[in-house]
Amino acid sequence: MRYSAWQVLRQGLTGNRGWAPVWRNPDPKPEYDIIIIGGGGHGLSTAYYLARKHGLKNIAVLEKGYIGGGNVGRNTTIVRANYFLEGNSQFYSHSLKLWEGLERELNFNVMHSQRGLINLFHSDGQRDAFARRGNAMINQGDDAILLDREGVRRHLPYLDFEQIRFPVYGGLYHPRGGTARHDAVAWGYARGADSRGVDLIQNCEVTGIDVKGGVVQGVQTTRGAIRARKVGIVVAGRSGQVAAMAGMRLPVESHVLQAFVTEGLKPCIDHVVSFGMGHFYISQSDKGGLVFGGDLDFYASYAQRGNLPMKEHVMEAAMTLMPMIGKAKVLRSWGGIMDMTPDGSPIIDKTHIEGLYLDCGWCYGGFKAVPASGDCFAHLIATDRPHEAASAFRLDRFRTGAGLMDEEGTGAQHNLH
Ligand SMILES: Cc1cc2nc3c(=O)[nH]c(=O)nc-3n(C[C@H](O)[C@H](O)[C@H](O)COP(=O)(O)OP(=O)(O)OC[C@H]3O[C@@H](n4cnc5c(N)ncnc54)[C@H](O)[C@@H]3O)c2cc1C
Repeated sequence: MRYSAWQVLRQGLTGNRGWAPVWRNPDPKPEYDIIIIGGGGHGLSTAYYLARKHGLKNIAVLEKGYIGGGNVGRNTTIVRANYFLEGNSQFYSHSLKLWEGLERELNFNVMHSQRGLINLFHSDGQRDAFARRGNAMINQGDDAILLDREGVRRHLPYLDFEQIRFPVYGGLYHPRGGTARHDAVAWGYARGADSRGVDLIQNCEVTGIDVKGGVVQGVQTTRGAIRARKVGIVVAGRSGQVAAMAGMRLPVESHVLQAFVTEGLKPCIDHVVSFGMGHFYISQSDKGGLVFGGDLDFYASYAQRGNLPMKEHVMEAAMTLMPMIGKAKVLRSWGGIMDMTPDGSPIIDKTHIEGLYLDCGWCYGGFKAVPASGDCFAHLIATDRPHEAASAFRLDRFRTGAGLMDEEGTGAQHNLH
């Protein structure tokens, strides 16, 4: 069913009884050409592009829970292309361009809102670093404007400009940055993949990967064995565990990242704002809630909930930057599991096992990557060649040390990226 204003009118006039289910609920077949493990944003977009761009049909996405229950439905929805290093910058630039046509592509309202992102800086050194980043973004063909203190005040008058501990020196403004409705992105890709014949199989946990003579044969699941010629692992925070089923040890650690939302308020924050000294960032959802987050919890974990010290740390940063936020009531907080690599950049690559492919290491920035990751991973699986926008995301860089992309300049400690 194609969605349109006409369809809304028609269904409204006929009691809304004609809407078709957004995707089917098929039983797994005994064999597929391609199995994608993980029905998050990246797994669904991979399946979608395999079907849409490469014309492949016999594909299943196996999801251990429900579509949208992982990080794709837990993130703070920021979409941006403000990366500095070659490798990252062309990939995220490619992704932002896909975002800009996504609603038309999927015929689904993902509520992509390019409301602008401002990264604040608080010292001369930070200003230099952001000026260089802005130049890299412009060289990549994206947009960046360096604002001075008064420029920031014009956009964000509610910040505390009087505080002396972290004075606001200015900000790097990325007008095409913004947000999107996270679940809608999962639902839109799921609907697009399903309508092209992809089987989306929920409540189907992969428990083993069958490999014979160095060639993948299929997977074991809680709903039985399924054979496949090609298998893609796209399970975000569970990447280390699932790769271990094929005997692989990944350079990935899993850490909790928390986020918070307040009660609904009248519109007051119309950009995405990021605090340069406290790892705090915030935007306002279309329902009015202030959505914000900060650092990772300081230890590795698979528990999808966070700890209290980090809550205090994030609230403290929020109060430092914009004391007005103290009047808002926090409604909920939650956590998701981040697949952190030692250089903070992702992996989209083949493995040493024929027919087994890997897409992981998105750290806390993989939502904005959903369209390009799906596009590039689908290209790799379909053609056995890396997509040019993701050719730097090689797995062997962690073995050889060549081609590392330490975007933050923090060294090889997973939780610092
Ligand atoms: C609090 C928070 C804030 C964030 N903010 C942002 C942001 O503002 N901007 C941004 O770009 N990124 C952000 N991120 C990061 C982003 O959400 C993730 O990098 C991205 O969603 C990960 O990819 P995914 O959507 O495929 O993951 P997921 O949705 O987690 O998908 C992986 C799926 O694999 C399934 N799975 C796992 N093991 C198995 C198995 N054995 N068998 C079958 N299925 C399995 C899981 O159930 C899950 O559904 C944030 C994350 C969190 C938690």
